[in-house]
Amino acid sequence: MADISISHLVKTYPGGADRATDDVSLAIKDGDFTVLLGPSGCGKTTLLRMLAGLEYPDSGSISVGGRDVTYLPPNKRNMSMVFQSYAVFPHRKVRYNIGFGLQMAKVNSKEIERKVQWAADLLQLTPYLDRLPAQLSGGQRQRVAVARAIVMDADVLLMDEPLSNLDALLRLTFRSELKKIVKDLGTTTVYVTHDQSEALSLGDQVAVMRKGRIAQLGDPLDVYDAPADKFVGGFIGSPPMNFISAAVTDSGDALRVGDQNLHAPSMLRSFANEDIVLGVRAENIGVATDRSSGDIPATVLVVEPMGSSVLLTVDVDGQSIKVQAPPTFRTSPHQTIWLTFSPNTMRFYDGATSMALEAK
Ligand code: ATP
Repeated sequence: MADISISHLVKTYPGGADRATDDVSLAIKDGDFTVLLGPSGCGKTTLLRMLAGLEYPDSGSISVGGRDVTYLPPNKRNMSMVFQSYAVFPHRKVRYNIGFGLQMAKVNSKEIERKVQWAADLLQLTPYLDRLPAQLSGGQRQRVAVARAIVMDADVLLMDEPLSNLDALLRLTFRSELKKIVKDLGTTTVYVTHDQSEALSLGDQVAVMRKGRIAQLGDPLDVYDAPADKFVGGFIGSPPMNFISAAVTDSGDALRVGDQNLHAPSMLRSFANEDIVLGVRAENIGVATDRSSGDIPATVLVVEPMGSSVLLTVDVDGQSIKVQAPPTFRTSPHQTIWLTFSPNTMRFYDGATSMALEAK
């Protein structure tokens, strides 16, 4: 079993003013695919490197399958790592590169040959086994790096932005292939990325990191639908979640946006007479050219046809928000359109702390 328990990990680099990881705790189930997601500098690579044994924490612990590995060197952890930079040997053939780790581990040559062939078949590298890395495309080189990691039968697979050197189309194709390969292998995997769509598509669970801490841990849909704070809602989703300043009325049953009223869900009763922030995703706002009861007006600022939808930037009482309309929706700048908000897709945040509101 390779379940991972990360407990209160703190890491500060010499000369670093802030903690690179600040009291990070995380439980990962055996065979799960966990994605560490966050903006540059939030500490995801540091966390991955501590898992790999390439860095040691100042305090806290890491255990794998119940064994404390916190201060073990990398070669005593039975983990494989795929780096962003491929890190393949340029003057050695693909065959050698894939089998390198096995050779270091003194596996016999017949077994190395068998496993190299297995991984090459899986990653569609068989025709290239006798080529040098320079004779491969970026995508093929990245496959070599993945092949080299999976032949090791490691308990844990660690990947640091493995797709970021690929072009957009290749990224998309390789992403689904990687998901299938890793799931079929059933190896516990920790994957670092700053790309939110990659995180949502690959992860069984996603840990969104900010300033060395985990801002939210959850399955991709939870993190997308119910961001724990405004940072997560703004980081995940394209476009990001809309945040609209609003006020709960005295009676607590309506939400005022400018001089318009929206029906307020019952959880807002306890926030009567308070200013709050309404969070809503662009695709959860209904649009119409004619008014229905409960709708609020908006002025169209920008119309962007996206193929499968039309992305509108609209003004609601001086606040600019994004709305995703059906592809057939026709409008133009300056036109007034009507927006519908449905209570079950609205999220509410504290304007001061940015945290999701909980019913009092
Ligand atoms: P990126 O996506 O840009 O790689 P990241 O989320 O992986 O970012 P880390 O590389 O873990 O972030 O860095 C976390 C913090 O630690 C940053 O503030 C960074 O400047 C600092 N840091 C990372 N490595 C070192 C180092 N070797 N020495 C000093 N500070 C470091």
